[in-house]
Amino acid sequence: MSSQESMEKKEVKKGLLEKFPTPIKKLFNWGRSYSIWPIHFVTGCCSPEFMQLFGPRYDLERWGVLPMMSTRQSDTIIFVGNVSRKMMKRALRLYEQMPEPKNVVVIGACATSKGPFPESYSLVRVKDYMKVDVYVAGCPPKPEAQAYGILKLRKRILEGEEG
Ligand code: SF4
Repeated sequence: MSSQESMEKKEVKKGLLEKFPTPIKKLFNWGRSYSIWPIHFVTGCCSPEFMQLFGPRYDLERWGVLPMMSTRQSDTIIFVGNVSRKMMKRALRLYEQMPEPKNVVVIGACATSKGPFPESYSLVRVKDYMKVDVYVAGCPPKPEAQAYGILKLRKRILEGEEG
């Protein structure tokens, strides 16, 4: 499935969610905002910074962020570091397996805009393949900045702005 089809499909499914009454939607979003279950693609020199998020110092689990092994239970996909063309093919397949509504977080200059490798033949920008909800800038972004990005996503889900 192309990235364009994927985005159109997402719009249709989000439209179905819109049919719920507002209090139900708010309750639904409140629950989702405190149970973000991501799958993640972590590469390059951004990865040591990302790994710290689930250690004792930053401990994202206290906010309900629980890394998932299965796409069937995930609601968020996180890209950290450089994303290659080959890797994106697999990422798109996994993204399609995730149930709606789902979110995309992009961390680091490489995944955002190819960073220091603008002429690279093999790197891609995530935004060319799927709709991104939150970007975290930096090369590499500090763990504090990455944690802030996750909090930003939680706020967007709570306010029904994501997708
Ligand atoms: S954004 Fe910078 S630190 Fe992160 S993978 Fe790219 S070059 Fe490395």
